[in-house]
Order: sequence, then structure tokens, then C-alpha cells
Amino acid sequence: MRALALDLGGTHIGCGVVEEDRLLAHTSIDAEGASSLADLLPVATDTLRALLRETGITAKECAGMAIGFPGIVDVRNGTIHSTLKKYEDAPKLGLVAWARKTFELPLRIENDARMALIGEHHAGAGRGVANIIMMTLGTGIGSATILDGRILRGVHGHASCLGGHLTVKFDGPLCHCGNIGCAEAEASGWSMPLVTRAWPGFAESALARIEKLDFRELFNHAEHGDKVACEVRERCLRVWAANAVSLIHAYDPEMLILGGGVMQSAELVLSFVQEYINTHTWSSWGKTQVRAAALGSTAALLGAVPLLSEEMHGA
Ligand SMILES: [Zn+2]
Repeated sequence: MRALALDLGGTHIGCGVVEEDRLLAHTSIDAEGASSLADLLPVATDTLRALLRETGITAKECAGMAIGFPGIVDVRNGTIHSTLKKYEDAPKLGLVAWARKTFELPLRIENDARMALIGEHHAGAGRGVANIIMMTLGTGIGSATILDGRILRGVHGHASCLGGHLTVKFDGPLCHCGNIGCAEAEASGWSMPLVTRAWPGFAESALARIEKLDFRELFNHAEHGDKVACEVRERCLRVWAANAVSLIHAYDPEMLILGGGVMQSAELVLSFVQEYINTHTWSSWGKTQVRAAALGSTAALLGAVPLLSEEMHGA
């Protein structure tokens, strides 16, 4: 089976032509600062058409299109129910009709973190594993769960994809989602700069001279011994590890896959989270194994074929 795939991320839109468990062609579009999806759809269309030309196949030779969306979706009828500060216009765009009109293809929309886990299960770190949690540490914190070989969605599409919105600090800041002290509000791409700028001693830190503070800068400065960078990095690691233990206690996985931009420092993050899990999870059988996502930013694109192949009930 072949498919077209889009992954609507916080800063980039991944575009791909997929055949089974491999990408025939892929690229990404810069979406930094973009708030309207309507403005980006023509660019995505042109990009997918260019990728099709590159592979020498036509849209008609694809079984369908799959889109990973950073919000709450109903995969059964291809609707977007709720957004969170990104592509707020998406629920009104009628993407199923757009895909039909533009490419003459059926469309499935899935939460982006779920689609990434479906991809990792199909073609990456989770191949052959029946019980997996994935955390995507990027602009936000995404999560998804496969239980007994099936992706968990829940009656309203919320199940397990709000794992970045579990409370890690009950007297912490208000999160975009409405909850207080979420992991995402403490240690994600959007919240980390806010936490760092309010950190004691920030004015004297080399980080104060960085215009665009991100995890790459934070980890680089920590490696060079900057005191504030070391302290904030340690705090982020503890937030992710504590969040992972909560997810493990909730879902009983054999494997935890960590993905997202933070995994540029994979070795440090994996060893910290694994050790924290070994120390702090209540487990009767052994310890959940922590693995780095194998497919990087292409995981969600590789979720397209299994998503389109899945039999849906209640559509
Ligand atoms: Zn939240």
C-alpha cells in the first residue's frame, strides 16, 4: 500500500510519500510562527505534488492520505475537535473534502503523537512490541499508548494523548490546556524559556545573551558548565522522568519510546529517565525499557499506511 502523509508539527510540517514501511520521498515545510493552516495548505499541496513527481507515481496509485494533527481528533470521521494554540482554524477547514478535491483520496486524521507511535510500532523502535508508551518531547509534550497491540484512543479521542498534561507541580503555572502545573507547562519547548528566564541568577547566566532559547542551547550551555543551564536541564530531566513514571503506572507498558527534538541529547536523556524509572516505578515484573525513537521526525509519516489499513468501528 502507498499513501500520502502530512505531519503538522509545532515548527515544521513533514510531507511524505510512503510505501508500507518506507518513505519513497519526504521533506518538510517551515511552519514556525504560522497560526493558520489554511495559509499552509497550498504549500503542502505543491510539496506533495512535487514529491509524487520525484517518485514517479501518481496520487491515484496511493490508497489514501493521512494527517497527524497536534490536537484532539476523531479518527473515525476525520474531524478535528479541539486545538491548543496551533492551527486554530483547522476544525473548520473540512480536510476530508479538501483531500478528496485536491488529490481524489480518502483522508484519515490522527493525533500527531499517536501517529508517531503507530509509525514507531510499524517500522521503528517498537516493532513487535505489544505494549508501548511514547512521549514526544518537543514544542509541547505529546504522548500515546499501544495496549495489547492496539492504539488507545478512548470514547472522545482523548485517551493517552494528553500525557504531557499530567500534573507534576500542583501549585505550578496555569497551562494552555487549563490544568495547573502540567509537565508541558514546566519542561517543553514553549515553557522552558519562561522557566529559565525566571530562574534565580538568570541575568548572570550566558543564557541571558541567547535571543532564541531552545533545548539545544540549554543542553550546550549545561555541557559547558553554566550553572543556571545545569540546574534547568536537571529540572527538565526530572519533570520528564516523573511524567514517564506516572504514564507507566497508568498503562503498564513493556517499553517507553522517547522522541522529539530533545533527543538530540539522547544518551543523557535516556540514561536519566531509565534510572529514575528503575528507582521509582512500582513494578511486579521488571522494568519498562526506555528506547529512543528510531524514525526521528519521520515517525508520524510512517504511521500513514497502518493508520489507513486499520479497520475503524463506529464511523
Ligand atoms: Zn496542560
